[in-house]
Amino acid sequence: MLLELNHITKKYDNTTVLHDVSFALKPGVYGLLGSNGSGKTTLFRIICGVMKQSAGSVKYNHDDVQLNPDAFRSVLGYLPQDFSYYPDFTGMKFMLYIAALKGMNKNYAKHRSLELLKLVGLEDVAKKKIKKYSGGMKQRLGIAQAMINDPEVLILDEPTVGLDPKERVRFRNLISSFSENKIVILSTHIVSDIEYIADEILVLNQGKLENRGVSSELVSTIHGDVWECVVEASKLKEMVANYVISNQKHSEKGTVLRIISKEKPTRDALQVQPTLEDLYLYYFREDSKK
Ligand code: ADP
Repeated sequence: MLLELNHITKKYDNTTVLHDVSFALKPGVYGLLGSNGSGKTTLFRIICGVMKQSAGSVKYNHDDVQLNPDAFRSVLGYLPQDFSYYPDFTGMKFMLYIAALKGMNKNYAKHRSLELLKLVGLEDVAKKKIKKYSGGMKQRLGIAQAMINDPEVLILDEPTVGLDPKERVRFRNLISSFSENKIVILSTHIVSDIEYIADEILVLNQGKLENRGVSSELVSTIHGDVWECVVEASKLKEMVANYVISNQKHSEKGTVLRIISKEKPTRDALQVQPTLEDLYLYYFREDSKK
């Protein structure tokens, strides 16, 4: 199994939102990390054939997916960001409807729908109308429908939005039990989700693939650039304006700042171990702090 993106570029009118993005993915769980507007949804839509790129190609097992979209769709599962459902359908009916769209056998579809609804913890509400579901329940239904055809390639756009911490743990477990010999790509803003689930991280910054690697490798690139220091109240505003602050807490001596900076920010600042959250802030810092 091999999913390849070759030189994908996307322009909306005159604005380029994806710049020559290339990567190849083998089975594994990949976290797509990027701030709002960095192009994650656009990239997913192109892979899933919902939108056409301006240049470049997407290949699955060396075949161009756009030349034979039905074949790719049959091995693809997708949770779009703007996942829409029919409020008057029950969860079960919705699953069967998606299965029918995918041309699945009816008996198998029923069995698989029940199995998935159970896995995402919706078995008790399978016969309730979706309009009565909470946000987290709808999101779990979205995840279940993406997995109905046991896809080889599963693409999840912000799957943990609206999930509470318990639901997020359940989701992580579901993905790790599902992902064996599959290609799973998910985007999220919650850095800890990526840290727990993803084997590898792809960093998309302003439409460019800025980096990829396992979490510890990426984090080590900012080794020596994360500091902690205590600042007095009079200096706080200036520090916050000039530095990338990854945490701020009060202590008796003053405010303790966690700062990401190439240079030592204050005379008595101490270097600390970087985390993935620090890395996220480093990549997606404001221009004025670069
Ligand atoms: P992300 O998912 O990382 O938040 P998107 O792919 O949604 O990023 O958006 C990338 C950029 O493309 C943004 O600047 C956004 O405003 C722009 N964009 C997205 N969809 C459209 C569209 N249909 N027409 C014009 N610009 C768009």
